[in-house]
Amino acid sequence: MLKRDIGLNTICTHSGAVEDVVYGGAVSPIYMSTSYDFIDKSTKRYPRYFNTPNQELLSKKIAALEAAEAGLIFSSGMAAISNVMLMALKSGDHAVIQNDIYGGTRNFIESHFKSYGIDYSFTKDLTSKSFRDCIKTNTKLIYIETPSNPMLKLVDIFAIAKLGKSKGILTAIDNTFATPVIQKPITLGVDIVIHSATKYFGGHSDITAGAVASSQKIVDKLWDLAKDFGGNLSDFSVWMLERSMKTLAIRVKAQQKNARKLARFLEKHAAIEAVYYPGLKSHPNHDLAKTQMRGYGSMLSFQLYENYPALSFLKSLNLIKPNMSLAGVESTMIMPSKTSHALLSEADRKAQGISDQLIRFSVGIESKKDLIYDIKHALNVCKK
Ligand SMILES: *Cc1c(COP(=O)(O)O)cnc(C)c1O
Repeated sequence: MLKRDIGLNTICTHSGAVEDVVYGGAVSPIYMSTSYDFIDKSTKRYPRYFNTPNQELLSKKIAALEAAEAGLIFSSGMAAISNVMLMALKSGDHAVIQNDIYGGTRNFIESHFKSYGIDYSFTKDLTSKSFRDCIKTNTKLIYIETPSNPMLKLVDIFAIAKLGKSKGILTAIDNTFATPVIQKPITLGVDIVIHSATKYFGGHSDITAGAVASSQKIVDKLWDLAKDFGGNLSDFSVWMLERSMKTLAIRVKAQQKNARKLARFLEKHAAIEAVYYPGLKSHPNHDLAKTQMRGYGSMLSFQLYENYPALSFLKSLNLIKPNMSLAGVESTMIMPSKTSHALLSEADRKAQGISDQLIRFSVGIESKKDLIYDIKHALNVCKK
């Protein structure tokens, strides 16, 4: 469409649109066909080949957002993650994995890597040193996720990318929490960026999807595996996702503006023992956040004092939803100890700082004063 560098909101709105050449409609038509003409066609189109018009073009939007050469859209974040891992790792290989990553990713590694003959090490902590310490001669992948869930710890993306490059090891990042609006890992040297598009890309808690952005060479290799695993997204959901992504930058910025204010409000409240948010000066990685993120995102966690029981606090909320997932335009809260991290042992949770009084807060776009009112009210009601 446009040759010169175009702005973030213009990419969100226009890149990868399917032009309606027949009727000139303003939005992309949906091509639901599972069968396409093959005579004299250079491309053999089929949904599981990830190359229907809607799939192909939305991949370009995602690539443009991540400053990557190419992209691929999957049926879920886990489909994207598992395909990337099995593309990068073969029997006899080893992977270095950040120690606190999304529960589903951890489960995939711990439940299935052994049967594929793949060895792995979880890092001791999130410092670059602990990644370096885990590298073996057969290491083929370094995998990170920053900010992490639910403690919002950061990994130095540039340092990890540099480490990977110096050893000839592929690096991959789960960029779900930050989105390309806030950080673009490819520009920091990371090879592969992965998203659960179920979260901010979708943004309205009504689509399950995943996405990968990388070089054309890596995406071609990934495609070769992905078409056989068959984890493509239905074209209707692809179309929904394209529609949702038009407002990605606007939503993410509004959400993070709210989150910053809510973090400051919570930090001052007498019921709150600690707030974990990279935008706060008290956050141990605040300086790193300033260098690798543009803004600090809209996920935060906070620790309630014992006389404000977490479960009754959540039950006392009227506006904010106690809901499992995250990143929607509506604010949600969970207790990680009872949900995302319930399968960990109490000792493992404690090691990660996840107590029963910890609340993870996905801040939405509601009016700040209404969110504050809801929290204040719930704290009053639940106080013992
Ligand atoms: C939700 C999530 C995933 C998994 O995505 P699905 O779309 O549920 O498969 C992976 N990583 C992070 C950080 C997530 O929040």
